[in-house]
Amino acid sequence: MNNEFDIIKKYFTFETLRDDVVLAGGDDCAIVSVAENKQLLITTDTLISGVHFPKKTSAEDVAYKAIMVNLSDLAAMGATPAWLTLAISLPEINDVWLQAFSNQFYSVLSKFNISLIGGDTTKGDLSITIQAMGLCDKDKILRRDKAEPGDKIFVTGELGDASIGLHVVLNNLNDERLSPCIQRLNRPEARVRFAEELVLYSKCAIDVSDGLVADIGHIVESSHCGAKISLSEIPLSLAAQYYFQQYNNNAIDWSRVLTQGDDYELCFTVDESNQPVVEELARKHRLKLTCIGEITDSKELEFYDVDNKLMNFTDTGFKHF
Ligand code: ADP
Ligand code: MG
Repeated sequence: MNNEFDIIKKYFTFETLRDDVVLAGGDDCAIVSVAENKQLLITTDTLISGVHFPKKTSAEDVAYKAIMVNLSDLAAMGATPAWLTLAISLPEINDVWLQAFSNQFYSVLSKFNISLIGGDTTKGDLSITIQAMGLCDKDKILRRDKAEPGDKIFVTGELGDASIGLHVVLNNLNDERLSPCIQRLNRPEARVRFAEELVLYSKCAIDVSDGLVADIGHIVESSHCGAKISLSEIPLSLAAQYYFQQYNNNAIDWSRVLTQGDDYELCFTVDESNQPVVEELARKHRLKLTCIGEITDSKELEFYDVDNKLMNFTDTGFKHF
């Protein structure tokens, strides 16, 4: 094992899984076929060690998260994942690490029926860039510029756990009751299967990756509307509630819940008439779903606290620069 071709052959050559892959690996480009009635959706995300995940994160967790954050972008637009490429930069050839990464990587690929169709392998600080490609019916794609005044706003799952998980890991808080938060940090679940069906009832969605304040902000800005959100409706896990009781004087730190990101839940809007069917869909997918507010025709993004007072978030989301 002494060059990148050996690494690619041993760790990044998997069964193709799909019959729309004409050529994967072994040439300068991959070739895939796109069905006539579909559009191709393409997204890319990089995870850098020490920036997007703590340096001590396991190979399995890195592989899992690197794929999921990309699948979450596809889910946010209602696309079914089909193919991906992997550009990986490694500080050294560590067979134990590579085997663990490779096994976990393939297990997620096979779960979602995705083909790895190419990539790039280089030496450098640990960094993983995935480009994910998905398919959606032409008139069904969910977009952040399609919210309409009067729409109800929903989020899947619970918010804030990953941010608490990161805090727990970085500060070595040794508390078994917070392990669900670490799990949410390392193993986000892209809402792919739910989103594939959501396209029937919604036109507008985004995934909550930078914190709800920033991400709802993108919806209202792109859709030229406003939104009213009630903090009393924001779903918190039992572990998050415990964290605030135990480590924050029993006060919920809304800035942590709503501006730190890494949640990878879906936030979407639906016409009120579709609320019952969307709630039924969530039950079918065993997904918690919460209506947190409403789209308005003002241009304001308003968060109301438990006493119905307007909140002000100065810090709106994770920013690199
Ligand atoms: P090129 O010289 O054309 O850039 P490379 O030497 O980078 O090609 O890669 C050789 C082949 O291996 C290509 O088909 C490429 O897509 C594939 N490949 C390289 N790295 C990976 C990876 N990490 N995962 C999957 N395929 C990879
Ligand atoms: Mg190359």
